[in-house]
Amino acid sequence: MENILDREPLNKYDFSRMVNMWENLVFTAVSEMIERNEMCPCHDCVLDTCALALNSLPTRYWILGSYDAFCPPEKFTEDVMNIRLAEEAVLKAYRLVQQNPHH
Ligand SMILES: [Zn+2]
Repeated sequence: MENILDREPLNKYDFSRMVNMWENLVFTAVSEMIERNEMCPCHDCVLDTCALALNSLPTRYWILGSYDAFCPPEKFTEDVMNIRLAEEAVLKAYRLVQQNPHH
């Protein structure tokens, strides 16, 4: 599939700087579950769980390198409530994946 971001007029913009703030928290929760042997570590289960968890969380994008004094990115990713929300979303997502695994 051709990536529209590789074509004019969008190819001059750096969309890699635009990140979903939940990704880091969800990936951290998933990696901890894999390390504790609480999750099937196969490619299908891990990606399905990440996708389901991210879909269940409110969309929250951030532009890397920009700075908002009122809401710096660390304030979001270090927030205990957000960490908990991400962990709960991952647990719920993995329970669904376990019911119907693709592996
Ligand atoms: Zn699996």
